[in-house]
Parts: sequence; C-alpha cells; structure tokens
Amino acid sequence: MTKTFEALGIPFPLFAAPVTQARGYINQGQCTVCNSSAEHCFRLGIGCFVVVPCSHCNTAVGLDADDRVSGTCPECGVTVPFPKAEGNITTCYSCLRQGRAAIGKDSAFGMISWQQAMEGVTHGAPELEAQGYELIDKGDDWYGVRLPKELMLELLRTPSYVTWQGDVWQFCCGAPMSFIGEWSKADFNNAAQDGAGRALFAQVMSEDALMVWDRNDLGEGSYCYVFRCPGCKALKAHMDMS
Ligand SMILES: [Zn+2]
Ligand SMILES: [Zn+2]
Ligand SMILES: [Zn+2]
Repeated sequence: MTKTFEALGIPFPLFAAPVTQARGYINQGQCTVCNSSAEHCFRLGIGCFVVVPCSHCNTAVGLDADDRVSGTCPECGVTVPFPKAEGNITTCYSCLRQGRAAIGKDSAFGMISWQQAMEGVTHGAPELEAQGYELIDKGDDWYGVRLPKELMLELLRTPSYVTWQGDVWQFCCGAPMSFIGEWSKADFNNAAQDGAGRALFAQVMSEDALMVWDRNDLGEGSYCYVFRCPGCKALKAHMDMS
C-alpha cells in the first residue's frame, strides 16, 4: 500500500486515495503562486487556474494556468498580471488549500473550474439528468447543475486523479464525493462485508458491468475509479479502458 495524503500530513477531505493516484503531484517543487521552493506541489495544466488578489480591491481573480495571460478584475476592471513563471505552472499544498490555485475537474455534472465555481453552476452536458439537484437550462438541451459555491471551491482545492480517459468526479447527498482509489478485485473483496467483492462491484457499477469482473479485466485493461460519500458513506464509481 502506498501512502495517502493524510499519512503525509497534507490531508484533502475529498481525496483519500494513495498519493500515487493523484495527477500532477510532485514531492518537491517550485510554487508559481508564492514563488518559493516547497514540499508537496501540484502541476497546474489545462483547466487549472492561478488565483490572484486584485491589487486595487482584493477580489480573487482566476487566471488560466495554461494560457498564462493576465486577467481583468470583475469588480473594478484593474489588470491582474499572471505571476512570473518559467517552465511548469505549479502550486504548493498551502497555496492550493488557501484557494490561491484551482485544479479544474470533469464531473458527472460536466466540467467544474474557476468560472463555474464563481457562477455556482457546473458547465453541464447535453440532456443532463441529475435527480435531486437544481438543473439550469443553458439552451439547446444543455443543462448545468447548481451547487453551493463553497463545495465547488473545495473540489477545486483537491488534486485530480490519474485515469486513462479522464476524470468523472461523482456526487452524492448534494455534494462532491471523496475519491478513494482505482480499485482492483482485491480492493472490492476487502471492502465487501463478507468478502463478496463481485456483488459489491455489481452494486457500485451495474449488473451489466459484471462481464468486466468475470473476464478478469479489472486493473488489466479496464479500470474502476471509486468514490465514497462523506455524508451517507455510499460508494459510486466509473470505469474506463486503457
Ligand atoms: Zn505556494
Ligand atoms: Zn479589483
Ligand atoms: Zn451520500
């Protein structure tokens, strides 16, 4: 078993999986945000933002970490320059947790990055269904989901996870779930009360997905990414293929 962030002393409420499953984690790096050499850094790529306070009114302004260009304060119109950076754009744990950087996510409710958190509505998807959530009609059968801004910001202060085909963050009880790992058969067997991992897998995924289990593909070409609800403790998951 590899360590979790909690074991390293840098916990994330929504990321309980082993550190090796976090995308863009670097154990020693140069933080673009506070411009210092720091332990426990995360690379900021496409969909990620550096969050800089406006020099005039102190409003937090998100600057696209991939574009690396200055922005304009939405409150007072002052130009907010992108921090000086050579090479990769990186945030340290401390800056990330203070909300001075934002790691964008793809989710079951569509993309969530800085703009979406500011609006309190996910980017959404065509004909999106989300029972128990308020849907926002964006036109052309495209729907976003309204979520509390604090919950969206917490998700952006969380690393994403390594996948083959992209992250799909899951929701339960009105909030983002906690990512607990890419699970093998052994992980499902360990988590099932009576060692019946196959039944747990069917419950978390679907009966139809059992062919993956029965073909011994799990962790061998098919990958299952598992989340736990911090509220009701339910599990949800999605799969992809290499
Ligand atoms: Zn920093
Ligand atoms: Zn301003
Ligand atoms: Zn729940």
